[in-house]
Amino acid sequence: MASKIVCVGRNYAEHAKELNNPIPKEPLLFIKPTTALCDFEQPINVSQAPYPIHYEAELAILIGNKLTKVSPEQANRAIEGIGAALDLTYRDLQTKLKAKGHPWEIAKAFDNSCPITRFINFDKHDLNALEYRFFINEKLRQHGKTQNMLVNIPDLLSYISQHFTLEKGDIVLTGTPAGVGELIKGDKLKLEVCGVLKAETEVS
Ligand code: ZN
Repeated sequence: MASKIVCVGRNYAEHAKELNNPIPKEPLLFIKPTTALCDFEQPINVSQAPYPIHYEAELAILIGNKLTKVSPEQANRAIEGIGAALDLTYRDLQTKLKAKGHPWEIAKAFDNSCPITRFINFDKHDLNALEYRFFINEKLRQHGKTQNMLVNIPDLLSYISQHFTLEKGDIVLTGTPAGVGELIKGDKLKLEVCGVLKAETEVS
């Protein structure tokens, strides 16, 4: 069971640019509570949301043991699984909060703001050569490659563990590439980690 979901903002340069954000010198971290988790393959409801819901498709890492202030090598050994998730965001609200210098939690950590796929054992796969794709209505919207991350996954997990202990079952979202946008009722979504897994859902 996860105790938290740790997320990183701006881990792909092209996405930082599309939102007119500077590229950070260190990973920009935030946390979603476990009440944000839901099954990606169940319909994603946007019709009752107080603000438009935007998607960020991200590679998700399942942590297999407790990590406190560990090296990238130790962090790498603790990866139990690979999956994919949407970091759902009330973008308009986040933009307002950011402008005021306020925390963004209510724009990022709301209930069901983290639809997630199942996790696949990653042993057979090269972490630095993973790619994933996000389609809406069969149109490619986001294409992430781990080799384009500003901070690679072992370094990211090590950095996180310097600040907060990662526990067995915790989930790390590794940032989103360019192509974010709004989810619209009726959209058919497909997330695939190439060669690893595929999952589909729809927006209701
Ligand atoms: Zn994100």
